[in-house]
Order: sequence, then C-alpha cells, then structure tokens
Amino acid sequence: MIDSELMCMQHILGEHRELHALVGTIKRTRPEYEGSIRHKNNLIGLARDGFIELKSLKKRHDELAKHFENHNSPIKELPPLKYLPKKVREARVDREKAVKDLIDRPKSCRPEGGCRDKILG
Ligand SMILES: [Zn+2]
Ligand SMILES: [Zn+2]
Repeated sequence: MIDSELMCMQHILGEHRELHALVGTIKRTRPEYEGSIRHKNNLIGLARDGFIELKSLKKRHDELAKHFENHNSPIKELPPLKYLPKKVREARVDREKAVKDLIDRPKSCRPEGGCRDKILG
C-alpha cells in the first residue's frame, strides 16, 4: 500500500470507504448468507488482481482514519476469514500497480494531480 501521506484526501476517503465495504463483503462469505459464493468470488478476483490485502486491512484502516478529524467507524475485529481460500487470505496489494494508477489518473484526485505531485515530489 501507498504511504497515506503521499495520497490526496479524495483517495484517502475512497480507500477508507472501500475498506469498510471489504469488511462487509468478508462478513457475507459466511455460507448462511445469500450470495456468499458471489461475495467469495468477488474477493478471489480482487486478490488475484492485487487490489486487497486482508491481513493488513485493520492496520491500513487505522492509518487512513488518522487523516479524519471525526472518525466514527472503527474496525474492531475482522469477520472470520476461514471461508476464503488461502490465496485470498494471504494476498498482497500490488504496490507498483497502485502507485502507477494514482500517478496516471490525475483527474481522479482532488486537487487534480494531488497524488502524482506528492509521489513524484
Ligand atoms: Zn473507518
Ligand atoms: Zn489522489
């Protein structure tokens, strides 16, 4: 993951929102949930493409949350990961890809090019 100091607020907010959504998706991989297979496959795809890193989800969330003055959505404990394949539990974020994405899409930043300017200094 990218040092959050090198990210614009727009991307910090976006990633923070995604992490909370990810917790919800993990919860729904419990077999008793309707659509649990779809949620599991969703996570398998995200892991394969280097977008998620469940083992550091909570730490990453807390790092991003430090940027907010008012943060009322702590992640206390992750839902069980046992319904997920090992490759998903142990997946890592593709950092190079993530950095490239932030640099190459300046229009998705606020202010425009915010991440690029911080990363490239
Ligand atoms: Zn939060
Ligand atoms: Zn940005």
